[in-house]
Amino acid sequence: MRLGVSEYVDCAHFLPGHPKCGQIHGHTYKVDVEIEGDHSKGMVVDFADLRAQIRGVLAEFDHRNWNDVLDYPSVENICELLHRRLAQKLAFSFTIRIWEGHGKFAEM
Ligand SMILES: [Zn+2]
Repeated sequence: MRLGVSEYVDCAHFLPGHPKCGQIHGHTYKVDVEIEGDHSKGMVVDFADLRAQIRGVLAEFDHRNWNDVLDYPSVENICELLHRRLAQKLAFSFTIRIWEGHGKFAEM
């Protein structure tokens, strides 16, 4: 069974040397996390617990500048960073999808 939650963070970034994205600017990033697990006891996991774990990871980055933690904060690299952090917390296999504004995402 798959379950998913969506959360949001607001962050600044710039992409060094990029003609358009080289100036510091911000995005609202939507973060979709989809887990997979067994629900034979009724639930895979309590949504509130899952959300709290994800929020715990995202709180470190919300209203911050991605360039403080990544040399090149493309949505791909942000996705990889958040995947690594969440993998330390979640006891499930999962997929993470990061939306950079509307209509653009990276997933792993
Ligand atoms: Zn940007």
